[in-house]
Amino acid sequence: MRLICLALLSILLTACQPAAEQKQPPADTGTVDTTVAPPPEPEPPPPPPIDYDSSAWTELTRLDRSIIIDMKYATAENFVKKKMYDCPRCFLRPEVAQAVVRAHRSLQQKGLGLKLYDCYRPLPVQWELWNTVSIPGYVADPRKGSMHNRGSAVDLTIVDAQGQELPMGTAFDFFGPEAHYAYAQLPDSVRQNRILLRETMAAQGFRPIRTEWWHFSFSRKNYALSDMLWKCY
Ligand SMILES: [Zn+2]
Repeated sequence: MRLICLALLSILLTACQPAAEQKQPPADTGTVDTTVAPPPEPEPPPPPPIDYDSSAWTELTRLDRSIIIDMKYATAENFVKKKMYDCPRCFLRPEVAQAVVRAHRSLQQKGLGLKLYDCYRPLPVQWELWNTVSIPGYVADPRKGSMHNRGSAVDLTIVDAQGQELPMGTAFDFFGPEAHYAYAQLPDSVRQNRILLRETMAAQGFRPIRTEWWHFSFSRKNYALSDMLWKCY
């Protein structure tokens, strides 16, 4: 009897094998299996203690670490070809930062996200930009200041799930008609990306400008000009 049971069990197991095998991932054929999820990103280290006036400012990455920060003025990758910040940190007025995070989260529902090129820009940096660039219309007069000097403007784009920027027709800080939001000689897919960025930001209270597809100013509250400078580590 015991032998019969073992034999039956063996037959059953053999019969089940092909089905079980089907659940195994396919053998390595040299092609990438896109159905397999990538390994999770390692946890970033906890942020350092708050070293700024948090009643007036929010550091964006403290609200959401998945937002990509690529501060172009902390590099020479900008239209003045000069590093203007000592280190890359994105500060915004608290309500503005919260609105950016809401925009980011709405994009995440589509498998996308935001990447920031510039946030609050201290007035001393605006003076340096003003003194560096003599072409009228390219840099706001620091005596009047720009929305960036008030902590209520952002320069940003959309990235895919891998952090790759969606095509927007031009690079950040490209000054010419191609960077105008309504520039018509662009592929439909690029137009759609610009529309998505504009609609996502508008839904959270940001106003666009005509000449820079990447610039948005928060329109729900006014803020004073600031010369707050952030610390570097
Ligand atoms: Zn801007």
